[in-house]
Amino acid sequence: MRTLLAGHGASRGSALGRARVRLPHALDVAEQRITAAEVEAELQRLHAAVDATRAEMHDLRTRLHGALAREVGEFLDLHALLLDDPELLHGLDELIRVARYGADYALRLQRDRLAAVFEGMDDAYLKSRLDDLDHVIGRIHAHLHKRATAPKGVAGEILVSDNVAPSEMAQLQAQGVVAIVTAGGSALSHSAILARSLHLPLVVGAAHVLQKINDGDVLIVDGDSGEIVVEPSAEDLRAYRSRKREAAKEQRELGRLRSKPTRTRDGEDIVLLANAESREDIARAHALGAAGLGLFRTEFLFLQRRELPDEEEQFRVYRDAVLGMSGRPVTIRTLDLGADKADRTGLALDNEDNPALGLRGVRLSLVRDGIFDTQLRAIARASGYGPVRVLVPMVSGREEILAVRRRLKRVVGQLRKQKREVADEIPFGVMIEVPAAAFAVHGFVDLVDFLSIGTNDLVQYLLAADRNNEALGELYSPLHPGVLRLLHSVIETGWQARKPVAVCGEIAADPRFVPLLLALGLNEFSLHPSTLLEVRRAIRNSDRAALLSQTYKLLQARDRAGIERWMESAS
Ligand code: PEP
Ligand code: MG
Repeated sequence: MRTLLAGHGASRGSALGRARVRLPHALDVAEQRITAAEVEAELQRLHAAVDATRAEMHDLRTRLHGALAREVGEFLDLHALLLDDPELLHGLDELIRVARYGADYALRLQRDRLAAVFEGMDDAYLKSRLDDLDHVIGRIHAHLHKRATAPKGVAGEILVSDNVAPSEMAQLQAQGVVAIVTAGGSALSHSAILARSLHLPLVVGAAHVLQKINDGDVLIVDGDSGEIVVEPSAEDLRAYRSRKREAAKEQRELGRLRSKPTRTRDGEDIVLLANAESREDIARAHALGAAGLGLFRTEFLFLQRRELPDEEEQFRVYRDAVLGMSGRPVTIRTLDLGADKADRTGLALDNEDNPALGLRGVRLSLVRDGIFDTQLRAIARASGYGPVRVLVPMVSGREEILAVRRRLKRVVGQLRKQKREVADEIPFGVMIEVPAAAFAVHGFVDLVDFLSIGTNDLVQYLLAADRNNEALGELYSPLHPGVLRLLHSVIETGWQARKPVAVCGEIAADPRFVPLLLALGLNEFSLHPSTLLEVRRAIRNSDRAALLSQTYKLLQARDRAGIERWMESAS
């Protein structure tokens, strides 16, 4: 039956495909009791699910050959061991027989018990086996409900899940997934940023999709509006095809803007830089006429792996980014691990009570100074191949800036002594994303060559609203008078000190916010190439002088509605 579900569009584009439902790892099952008469049937149901899981794994094992058999086989053996573990099975039986819990809830309790044991282990490897436990439990749970388990054969399908980790995104795209729908998540999460970078349509915060969508349902997913149509009608299909045609036409039109200047109607040139994390991003930034890279995130080099990248590996990646932009400046951001960007190398701490307020960004780099020096060396060496700027994340104030500058100076001195080619100048900038730093820019602007406002984090810290928590709804939004006033003040302080100020958070990537940012005095935008041409078009349609005459009015807005009214009148 046709059903319409709603979420938030987080990565643009639409897709038509069959649903592949993936159950959450941590079972979100409410407490569920059974009567004495139901115990035997419930035990049988559980044992049948365990047997089916065992058979499924055995079947998979026998179908593997060659190198794959060695690699994947190890995991399957481990899963089989877990599945035969008397601790797991006996515990489950007890929970059903004695405590009279339903099988689902027993599974959840048992999972949590064992997870606590895994989590308490000192050994990072053993700790990471928690994933395997979740995998096995997830499979049993899927068999309890006769759902498909492993996300295999997903080409052309739409993944429906509670959430997707950033580390899974690229893999899912490579497997041929055409879109993703998640019950949780937010448009500002790193997974969403990655999805945009991969051009994978994504809808987040679509509550109840796990209950309302079944494996194999046909879906139309709209990453712009956030709409999901389950079992579309003929009319939906017609509308989908016409939307696809419109999108192709718009792309052709936008294509004409590739070589056009980023100039407002009244003749002001605006600097349009690109955010990048991959070779593809760099190639697109170059092709679309970005003035340079305003934010090259280096975390991707550290995620999805167990060992740290050494100086040579980092150097080659940074050098290639510089060569890829052929003479346009490349802003390399030093490591911003921590909080939701947790790595597997063990570098980012995983036991912090408040990771977003913990040892992340520059704080981590200054503690792990050997690793930081390696990165600074690699960046400085890349500057021998073209213009490089260094950008430091999560800075709070002057002391940290001085400490980083000292390290950079020392590293550059050592490299020169070793007769390495290093540029005469490596412009140095900091990200403004900690509120205290935003208020105190006047106190350290003399120490930097440029500023880059990271609105994704600045908004979350200023409003005390987690950027990844969909439950907060509109609370996490740049459209707050406090946010706009602070942005204006940072931009103005930069101007007075004659230091360029860019915005590199997601707000800069949305053409709807162009008039607002221009009115706040911004003249440098850094954004992912996927919307670069749309933002260029919005800038070319704007009259900067007219917008600047409206700044006062914008800053007088008292609430979101007031800001939205201003935006409407400005567009
Ligand atoms: C930001 O916080 O706005 C930003 C650009 O950095 P990231 O999204 O990588 O945290
Ligand atoms: Mg940030």
